[in-house]
Amino acid sequence: MMRVPLLDLTAQLQAIEAEVGAAVADVLRGGHFIMGANVSALEAELAAYTGVAHAIGVANGSDALHLALLAAGVGPGDEVICPAFTFFATAGAVARAGATPVFADIDPVTYTLSVEDAARRAGPRTRVIIPVHLYGHPADMDGVMRLAGEHGLTVIEDTAQAIGATVPDGRRVAGIGHFGTYSFFPSKNLGALGDGGMVVCADAGLAEKVRLLRVHGASPKYYHRVLGYNSRLDELQAAILRVKLQRLEAWTAGRRAAAARYAKLFAEAGLGAGAAPGAEAPGAEAPGAEAPPAPPTAQPPPPAPGDPVVLPAERPGFTHVYHQYTIRVHRRDALQAHLEHCGVGTAVYYPLPLHLQPVFQELGYRPGDLPITEAACAEVLSLPIFPELTEAQQEYVVAQVAGFYAGGG
Ligand SMILES: *Cc1c(COP(=O)(O)O)cnc(C)c1O
Repeated sequence: MMRVPLLDLTAQLQAIEAEVGAAVADVLRGGHFIMGANVSALEAELAAYTGVAHAIGVANGSDALHLALLAAGVGPGDEVICPAFTFFATAGAVARAGATPVFADIDPVTYTLSVEDAARRAGPRTRVIIPVHLYGHPADMDGVMRLAGEHGLTVIEDTAQAIGATVPDGRRVAGIGHFGTYSFFPSKNLGALGDGGMVVCADAGLAEKVRLLRVHGASPKYYHRVLGYNSRLDELQAAILRVKLQRLEAWTAGRRAAAARYAKLFAEAGLGAGAAPGAEAPGAEAPGAEAPPAPPTAQPPPPAPGDPVVLPAERPGFTHVYHQYTIRVHRRDALQAHLEHCGVGTAVYYPLPLHLQPVFQELGYRPGDLPITEAACAEVLSLPIFPELTEAQQEYVVAQVAGFYAGGG
């Protein structure tokens, strides 16, 4: 039996061990461990990478969201629209800022915020909208920016899963809204060896607010203008991230190549042909730039009888960075148990949508309120994907999925 882990960080680290070791040794000799030269350099590098003027290193991606919300002036009585199909931190940050998360449904093709549904939920108290570039596919940023313009909303792009993904005009996500947030949790596409995060933004005034908030509101030191937090990025993590940032484009290309191989292998196995509407198979050439993205469909594309697998889609003109390779399937839990039995690591991101989490019970949502989100929670399964994943491993994964359905599921 072959073993295929969901994620293998050791292969990647082995390849850069000498460089990481040298970077760590430099920091040890320098004797400066919090917000030193590597943090400043990483901030400049990621600002440039994102295509904005400012970047502020913080303790983690959750804090990046929290501090961006506070810098946007969000507080009690304000509403913030976000998806319920995302990691908890997206909405947890809203609640931590004292505001109310307002959950909108998702586009069934990309699993990102449905702008149509968000528009229905925008009201006089709405202050901010948080699109999440889930799994590495950009949200419909044209739609989000249009809606934000109509309602005077601040846009915070939760880019924890999508560093480097692009929209049809070629811009990278995180640099399109008023703020973008990155997470450097080890499993993210650009991962530290511990926690880390960053806020990026174009506006100098907003950047200054985030910079104050991460150091207890102090400027200069020991003179506190606002109530802030201790949310700083370690010098060691920044030094390691700078080494890894140089490889990010190659790693993203590796992820995209692995996604294209999955698509080919599933097609050869006679699975996943019922591609989501308005979507392109990974690796396909983008059509002319004038072709607009297909509009979201009203209903999720359910796995069809006889073809129980829906593959992840890439909307024309967008680039998906495949933080996850997430399929949607019949009899998900049984398939997951079968794959585990065969030595294949998988995960469900996410089994319970945020609007139905116990901690948000008082907000009054009920099952059925966000039908596309709830259907996705019951059907999605993320398969192993990382830049070093081999074709033999992928053949094995697809063979086990095909074997499950050939055996009657
Ligand atoms: C990982 C993640 C976060 C939080 O990042 P941390 O660094 O773990 O705090 C926020 N949003 C999304 C969508 C994430 O995947």
